[in-house]
Amino acid sequence: MRLLSILTIVILVLSLGAREGDPGAPGEPVPSAKPQATTETHAKVTGVYTSILEFASRRALDDAIKSDPSFLMDKHKKAMATIDDQAGLKLAHDAGFNTLFMTIYPLWGRDWYDIPAGRELVRDAIKRSRDSGFKVHLGLSLFNAWFCQDPSKYKGASRTIQCDGTRPTWVCFFDDELWKTYIKNATEMAQIGKEAGGVQGLFVDPEAYGPEEYLCFCPNCITKFNAYAHEQMPTNLVKPDAWLHAHNLWDKYTKDWHDHEVLRHANDLRDAVHAIDPHLQLSSLLWDYPVAVGTGDARQQYFRMLAVGLGTTEQPAWTLPEHTYYSDAADLARIINQINTDLGALHARDKVKILPGLRILRQPAATLADRAKVIHDTDVPGYWLYELADLSPSKGIIDFEGAAVDPLPDYINALHEMNEKLSK
Ligand SMILES: [Zn+2]
Repeated sequence: MRLLSILTIVILVLSLGAREGDPGAPGEPVPSAKPQATTETHAKVTGVYTSILEFASRRALDDAIKSDPSFLMDKHKKAMATIDDQAGLKLAHDAGFNTLFMTIYPLWGRDWYDIPAGRELVRDAIKRSRDSGFKVHLGLSLFNAWFCQDPSKYKGASRTIQCDGTRPTWVCFFDDELWKTYIKNATEMAQIGKEAGGVQGLFVDPEAYGPEEYLCFCPNCITKFNAYAHEQMPTNLVKPDAWLHAHNLWDKYTKDWHDHEVLRHANDLRDAVHAIDPHLQLSSLLWDYPVAVGTGDARQQYFRMLAVGLGTTEQPAWTLPEHTYYSDAADLARIINQINTDLGALHARDKVKILPGLRILRQPAATLADRAKVIHDTDVPGYWLYELADLSPSKGIIDFEGAAVDPLPDYINALHEMNEKLSK
């Protein structure tokens, strides 16, 4: 649901160049998301999804463009050359957000942390945001082409094999070396957050921007399954699902073992990040896939296990659902309730909190007040808006996503009012 929007960041950063003004302090102080916070527990997170490109300074952007070794694609350099480095701060301030959910796009899949200008781009975007009064959660997309399209990047990794033996070109989503790379990125992000004065949290995005490989039957997975289940499943089957069904092991493989693996990787990432900074709030996007809600498919289960695996009773993770984007207030309340029910069924109510995603598109600006009331009256830490670019006049309309139905300033004003109420 965000692939197109990643592309539209380029449009946004170009369009924001038309905006003028100084960044200001974004209003009231907000509560720490740290679990030990006790004094401001009624204030909510009012977050907005964005990227480092919209908050880095002109100097950091230019240094990144000129960097040798180069770590950016030409299209990124071109777009970055024209960014107005005040525009993102001003827009986020005008709408009154207290928190930025800032991805490190376009750095994923690269060793950006070993390149001075890459490291500085992230550090600088965090520092500027903090200096303007925003809390920052730094984000990483997991299953994109830059990380996944070349399995040979990961020692011993296999390309995925699907249940009927089909072989997409991307790497297995459960691969240990792939997850070591995610953990390396996450720990570098945690480290750089410290260097920049502190970030509130890290979030990961498990949506597949390519083949969906939430079940895998590659030789590495089968070997690990055999060790887990004390079975002897062959690794060279023409059609793995036939063997699993014939041996009555389909559920054991696709549910028990897959859950176990996602939890294992998520736990490892969580522990590695907390070894750097024990207070960081961990989050993951998606609880259900928005156009396949409640189907119980492997994709949904991967999302859920990831969120559960990032949390502990002492320090719950946040799930950032997206099937709330276009909800009115009643639907938003219903979904929050449903996710709590889902969490109860997983015995994970105490490990995961819900931070629903909202969007301005398709709904009148006036609905934001009603949606804010649900956020206010429900036991959720806050909400996040997808995305800052939606508030920019030059983003353009993506046909299948729909459009704003009121003038954009109406939404910015409504958000400001809503955010002020929620962050008190
Ligand atoms: Zn595999």
